[in-house]
Amino acid sequence: MKKSLYIFLISLLIFSVGIYYLHLSWWLLLIPCLNFIFDLVFGAIYIQKNFYVDSVNNLQSSKQREICLTFDDGIHADLTPKVLDILKQKNVKAIFFLIGKNIIGNEAILKRMYDEGHQIGNHSYEHTFWFDMKSSNAMLEEIETTTQLINSIIGKQIALFRPPYGVTNPNLARAIKKSGLQSIGWSLRSFDTTAKSTTQLLTKLKLETKAQDIVLLHDRCEITVNALTEYIDFCQERGFTFVTLKS
Ligand SMILES: [Zn+2]
Repeated sequence: MKKSLYIFLISLLIFSVGIYYLHLSWWLLLIPCLNFIFDLVFGAIYIQKNFYVDSVNNLQSSKQREICLTFDDGIHADLTPKVLDILKQKNVKAIFFLIGKNIIGNEAILKRMYDEGHQIGNHSYEHTFWFDMKSSNAMLEEIETTTQLINSIIGKQIALFRPPYGVTNPNLARAIKKSGLQSIGWSLRSFDTTAKSTTQLLTKLKLETKAQDIVLLHDRCEITVNALTEYIDFCQERGFTFVTLKS
């Protein structure tokens, strides 16, 4: 964000000098202003830009053919166990970013998830549409409530946080810093929440999966459960191994 701000201020200065000495139109000032607004908006929407928050968006591992599967928005009482069954059968470890309120009543599934070697991350407590409108303190409260809930069930400190919708802003940046968690983004978004069919989802994943990817999936989507076995087989046949992140 600092880089964008400096570019904005310097370009504003250059345009102002041009307007004053060369009698150019004042409308030219719109160029740096619009460019800066564009940066602010796209920086919020695209977590990969690391504009407000520094996130880990791919593996950056020395082993080339590694990828990481991540599942957001659980726990889903019916579908999450099916995902765990497939991962167990294929001997694949993944990361689950859990919504705090979805853990209530599903504590045994969380325990199973952890006992089977998967990594657990925080994905806020409510995950409402309005999460990014909240104050930094309200965001921090959601994050900490979820962290404490997970820690108390698995008996270990978690270290990872994924922003709801992948949207970031200055308030969330402060909350994440205070939480001590590492923000995790992704490099491959499956769009499984909007995919029309298992075939459509598999086609996208097969075309776009590359080494070092962090893949965004959702264990609340039936389509994802239906595609998972074939997707894992596809990756393993091409020599990919599945890893989680160091914490
Ligand atoms: Zn989510």
